Amino acid sequence: MLHELYVRGRESTMVGFLPIFLLVWMHSVEHAQGPLLLWTVSLMVVQTYRLLIAQSYLRQPEAQTRQRWYLHQWLGVVALAVGWVSSFALLTMNELGAVFYIHLLFLIGLCSFMLSTIGIDIRLYGAFLLLMVSGTLAVLHLQYPDFPRQHPVVSYGFVVYAFMLLVRSRGEYRRTREWVTARLNRQLLLAQLNAALAEERDIKEKLRQQSEELANRNRELSELAVRDGLTRAFRRGHIEGELRRLIKGLHRRHDDFCVLMMDIDFFKRVNDDYGHAEGDEVLRRLAATSQTQLRETDLFGRWGGEEFIVLMPQTKLADAVEAAQRVRRAIDAMVFDVGDTTFQITISIGAAQLQPLESADALVVRADEALYAAKHAGRDCVVTSPALTVS
Ligand code: GH3
Ligand code: MG
Ligand code: MG
Repeated sequence: MLHELYVRGRESTMVGFLPIFLLVWMHSVEHAQGPLLLWTVSLMVVQTYRLLIAQSYLRQPEAQTRQRWYLHQWLGVVALAVGWVSSFALLTMNELGAVFYIHLLFLIGLCSFMLSTIGIDIRLYGAFLLLMVSGTLAVLHLQYPDFPRQHPVVSYGFVVYAFMLLVRSRGEYRRTREWVTARLNRQLLLAQLNAALAEERDIKEKLRQQSEELANRNRELSELAVRDGLTRAFRRGHIEGELRRLIKGLHRRHDDFCVLMMDIDFFKRVNDDYGHAEGDEVLRRLAATSQTQLRETDLFGRWGGEEFIVLMPQTKLADAVEAAQRVRRAIDAMVFDVGDTTFQITISIGAAQLQPLESADALVVRADEALYAAKHAGRDCVVTSPALTVS
């Protein structure tokens, strides 16, 4: 309500400047130039003051400042009423002609005009009317003692009119309260709606995050299904499937294809000398290091305990051997720290190139035979099948 009062107060103040200017213009050529100027300035100050308090309240409508602003509003309205009554006393002195009646009309108009502003606060409006009516009548009585008797309609009409305005102000107050309540309810509903929408947005966002998380988990799970938990190399089952799938297409296109079979030399000793956990660490690092020496298109898998397999699409035997040597040298260069001591390992590799119409199983058997041959040849070397003739 108070907020509404200030909005209306600001508007009425703006309009309120107009009659001041009008009166000044009407009387500027007449007598009492000094008091007229004083009246104009003081009323302008009152109006500006009312405008400022309305503005400042609208800018910071905190509850604790309400009482203070309310007091200011009272001061402004009382000053306004006193100012207008004094203008009546000042400007209608010694003349009961057109100027007097125009001035009286201004006062009546002002009372009616203020209904739309401070009328929403009946106490404020009552005080304003009382000051305006009693002040005007008092001035009239002082200046023209015979006026009430000669013009009873004007005198008592003013009082009756003021009373009617006061009654109307009750209705105005009720209407404004209903309107403000409806507006507050609408704001409340809008706030609730916004909160519900925000909640829905949150829920949607959470759902999106959860489904993303779920998709990630699924991806991880399917990765786990095909990858070995210790070394992260492909599991044997997956590699066998890939091998069969690849070979089917290879025979049709007559592409080069090689397989490497790798086995750690004397791995049992590592386990025996340094423990199973250290053996696991060796397997992990071996898998990681080997893959850094291979191409992205090569598939690295764990064939058995410490035996690994590499599928090398579009690779000639000579290139496969070169890659195998790279892997072997990288493994040879690895150093493992165990307490105060260190140890190193070596690997043996058998390499086989796919022959026309050869099956996946037959190819793996040949790679295995080559690995066996490498072990017999003294380990830490690469043996091929068929035997490679380097020119
Ligand atoms: P060779 O040079 O003839 O291959 O000798 P080797 O000692 O490596 O002989 P073999 O291949 O028979 O030994 C395999 C050993 O690898 C036996 C087993 O204890 C060990 N092993 C197999 N899987 C794992 C594993 O997952 N972790 C560890 N730490 N050891 C494993
Ligand atoms: Mg071994
Ligand atoms: Mg073995």
